Amino acid sequence: MTEIENNELQQQFGSDNYAGICPEAWQAMEAANRGHATSYGDDPWTAKASDAFRNLFETECEVYFVFNGTAANSLALASLCQSYHSVICSDQAHVETDECGAPEFFSNGSKLLVASSPEGKLTPDAIRELATKRSDIHYPKPRVVSITQSTETGRVYTLAELRAISEECRKCGLSLHMDGARFANACASLGCSPAEMSWKSGVDVLCFGGAKNGMAMGEAVLFFDRALATDFDYRCKQAGQLAAKMRFLSAPWVGMLEGGAWLRNAEHANRCARQFASQIAGIPGVRLAQPVEANAVFVEAPEKVLTELRARGWSFYTFIGGAARFMFAWDSDPGRVDALIRDLRECAAAA
Ligand SMILES: *Cc1c(COP(=O)(O)O)cnc(C)c1O
Repeated sequence: MTEIENNELQQQFGSDNYAGICPEAWQAMEAANRGHATSYGDDPWTAKASDAFRNLFETECEVYFVFNGTAANSLALASLCQSYHSVICSDQAHVETDECGAPEFFSNGSKLLVASSPEGKLTPDAIRELATKRSDIHYPKPRVVSITQSTETGRVYTLAELRAISEECRKCGLSLHMDGARFANACASLGCSPAEMSWKSGVDVLCFGGAKNGMAMGEAVLFFDRALATDFDYRCKQAGQLAAKMRFLSAPWVGMLEGGAWLRNAEHANRCARQFASQIAGIPGVRLAQPVEANAVFVEAPEKVLTELRARGWSFYTFIGGAARFMFAWDSDPGRVDALIRDLRECAAAA
């Protein structure tokens, strides 16, 4: 077997998806690989992973495992909506900007109603405005609010903010969906329990991200309002999201949840983000575009500085508001973070 050369590449912070699989997830997959098991989720690993989620969230929720976040969000939203309904979300929400219309597609046409949210956070006022703007037959009926925790811009809703949002949802007769691609990072940031950040704050359905937390792939969809999960298994199957060898999607969750790796991984990533942000704070011409609350750091710097940083081999994206985004993961190497800080400082000094 030939080795692929790019395994030798040094760490980059362009995305938290660049990281590999953490040991806890890997070992659980290896354990699941010893022998045969029943297929399509009817296996001991899937039962164990579902129970691990119920334990962690301290409630009897319905749990499903799908391949990725786009599927988790789209299918969850589709199960909350009829085709003539609408979903209220931020204009920066992943469901709006990065899922290729999948939420609309899987719901057979439910419309996303976006609120302008410069900080990437939806507010009760913005929800009320969109939910009450029209009530006539010509407008897609608002049915769900979707929020991202932590947000696409690396911000974290406080528990008070979450409760204010769910209160508004209740008043307007809307369900609350949470895109938790980085749920663990938000949990680590707030230091609260998963239950407090979800159903205790009024979240009805949560998509809990595994890939960015240290797994190879896979997201869990948790229905706290269990009635909303009716026929969700059929929805997954129809969408091509029912894994035949489900144990390899579910077993890693057992490894992640039972020993607390999900939280340790997120804490490490958040710590590296804070390390980076605090060290670049004083560099002339360099500014943080967003407060650093989870594992993302958005840096504003002159174009010349960013070009020079790229020339030194660093990769990063600038598609959100023009700022350079740096993401930290479970395996981010603090030495490599220091190297990035050094290069940014030198590029800024030379500019
Ligand atoms: C990464 C991410 C997802 C999931 O994306 P997939 O590539 O479909 O797994 C969902 N929401 C947010 C906010 C994300 O950052």
